[in-house]
Amino acid sequence: MVNDSELKEFEGIKNVKIVDGKKVFNCTMCGKCCYFREDKNITKEDEQKYYDYMYSKYGILYLAPLSDITINVWPEEAEKLRRIAIEKGVDVKLRPKRAVYDEKNNELIILDYFIDHDVCPFFDKKKRTCGVYDDRPLICRAFPLLSTKTTGNCEYKLFDTNEYAEEQTEAKKLEKMVDFQKKIIQEMITSEKIKIPDSIDSSMMEHIIKDAKIKELRIMYDALK
Ligand code: SF4
Ligand code: SF4
Repeated sequence: MVNDSELKEFEGIKNVKIVDGKKVFNCTMCGKCCYFREDKNITKEDEQKYYDYMYSKYGILYLAPLSDITINVWPEEAEKLRRIAIEKGVDVKLRPKRAVYDEKNNELIILDYFIDHDVCPFFDKKKRTCGVYDDRPLICRAFPLLSTKTTGNCEYKLFDTNEYAEEQTEAKKLEKMVDFQKKIIQEMITSEKIKIPDSIDSSMMEHIIKDAKIKELRIMYDALK
């Protein structure tokens, strides 16, 4: 509980509000989190190490360099955003982010997408608000949290992740999605529904992109029920 003198201390500070006597995050609507592609200080070597780890541990392939990737959009969210973009006349590019390649059925199974723009095309620069607020992706709902314990690059963020009441609920959903996705992939491998090659080099990747059937892994509603 925040006491009276502490309450006074937060008066006028835009990024804090008090709800039921507790200090919680109050987004200032600066909109900076809807501008992407800040410099990601990752070396090529570390990037490759990360790809190798994700492939050997989970069979997950990255289809875009980490420096390009912006906010994560699950396939169900991508479908909704594409529909809204058509309705609103917004040009949105949703690029596949990660996938699993199943050599048994020659299928590239897309796990998620990202918004491939420097500034999210749904961001209203004049009003500095989200143009798809009620339908914004889970990751936007959780932000500045990236998980229940980590925060992203928000200038106005609070440092105690417990002070994010609403965002914690969304961050828990994000974690559920990630865990559920890994579990489903493992189950598909173990039950031999799919077969993941031991390794994939660049020429094999070119072949896959050209010839494989494209599918999506849609698990959002099962993961979050
Ligand atoms: S979450 Fe942070 S960066 Fe994003 S609009 Fe709110 S205050 Fe700005
Ligand atoms: S969907 Fe909305 S909140 Fe998310 S990045 Fe785009 S404008 Fe910002």
